[in-house]
Amino acid sequence: MDKLTIALVAHDHKKSELLAWVQQHQAILAQCNLVATGTTGGLIAEKTGLDVTRFKSGPLGGDQQIGALIAENKLDGLFFFWDPLNAAPHDPDVKALLRLCSVWNVPVACTPATADLVITSPLFLSPDYKPTKPRFE
Ligand code: PGA
Repeated sequence: MDKLTIALVAHDHKKSELLAWVQQHQAILAQCNLVATGTTGGLIAEKTGLDVTRFKSGPLGGDQQIGALIAENKLDGLFFFWDPLNAAPHDPDVKALLRLCSVWNVPVACTPATADLVITSPLFLSPDYKPTKPRFE
């Protein structure tokens, strides 16, 4: 079975929370192809030893690179710990990324609690579960 491709993104005030979450679920995440925005990916790779493909930093286009994977049906899930308390210069990119998850029915978790529930679901690594993809005529 092909590995799932999973994207990890955290805004600056949420990076420690995402790192702790990744460490908690490292055994499952190690079974996935991991991609991430630049700074998030660097931190996770350094602290966990996981192999992470790093895109550009979020404000420099990394969110859009992840969005491009979604548009090409190459992303299986997004764990995106965005910061609700601080404005981001690339807020339009953040919205665009979340929007594409809804357009293409990509599982997306924005809080640690949701992320826990998603990654521990029996469906998460199940080869039998494939989210329905919308058809646009
Ligand atoms: P970063 O990008 O991982 O490069 O910090 C995340 C973001 O701010 O979208």
